[in-house]
Amino acid sequence: PVAPDYERLEQILKDAHQKFAADKSGSPADYIPELAKVDPELFGICVVTVDGKVFSVGDVNHTFSIQSISKVYTLAMIMDQMGQQAILDKLGAEPTGLPFNSVTAIEQQPTRVGNPLVNAGAIATTSLLDGESEKEKWEEILAFYSACAGNELTILNDVYESEAATNGRNQAIARLLQAYGVMYNDPEEAVDLYTKQCSVGANTEQLAAMGATLAADGTNPFTGENVISPDNVPHILSIMLSCGMYDYSGTWSYITGLPAKSGVGGGIVAIVPGKGAIAAFSPRVDAAGNSVRAQKAIAYISKQLQINIFDPQ
Ligand code: GLU
Repeated sequence: PVAPDYERLEQILKDAHQKFAADKSGSPADYIPELAKVDPELFGICVVTVDGKVFSVGDVNHTFSIQSISKVYTLAMIMDQMGQQAILDKLGAEPTGLPFNSVTAIEQQPTRVGNPLVNAGAIATTSLLDGESEKEKWEEILAFYSACAGNELTILNDVYESEAATNGRNQAIARLLQAYGVMYNDPEEAVDLYTKQCSVGANTEQLAAMGATLAADGTNPFTGENVISPDNVPHILSIMLSCGMYDYSGTWSYITGLPAKSGVGGGIVAIVPGKGAIAAFSPRVDAAGNSVRAQKAIAYISKQLQINIFDPQ
């Protein structure tokens, strides 16, 4: 369990919700038009433990697009398919220190893609998926994410269509990677699959369950299904720690000591290995792309619970 004292945990979640609900800084991402339509006041926090206990406060049943959080789970799929070394050889594991959709990073990084958690790296990761057709690959992605959540997830079509109509930058990134020889399949198909995976909907409880699967060595705490190879989990978490919070990852790691991933839809999930996951959602994001309330809530909770993974206690 994240904290043996469940009453205290519930109180800490309530306090975090109350403390940061008043924070109205940041604004919903609007470069994907559909995201700007979400009610900015929504705010949910949920902890799921490795033994399947659920602690929730706020709007935990509102479904939002997971956006970049998808990158972690497609990375897990590819690591399972191709092995750990292929991630270093074909993708890389270095933080770029630049925004998630940076073209400059592609020009500067020796592996071009940087790491699997920025757009370039994620599109390259998605292009590595095995499958006969785009449809088959898409079904494989959705089934894998759903197994991680222990719940059937679906695509939010409005978000997908909105992003597909405005994702010229990601298409350009895929073409640039192709020119550098690090796009492993048709770039248009890779971008389309990537856009679909970003548009997968989850609520805060489902997101926390996806995180808890990583906390529990790759086994979903509700279904008991082993979804991600346990050997791969520490490597996925390492990449999350160094690259999961955009170009704020170093500061995040300094503050919390927790591997995490955020998405511009307003969700963040943080993993406490062997214990559980904390997910939070609120649509207003800061300049880096991290939900303001979600990051503050998770940082507060992790401090109260003293769950920094580098804390030897
Ligand atoms: N679909 C978004 C994009 O490619 C994801 C961005 C994010 O959540 O970081 O721009």
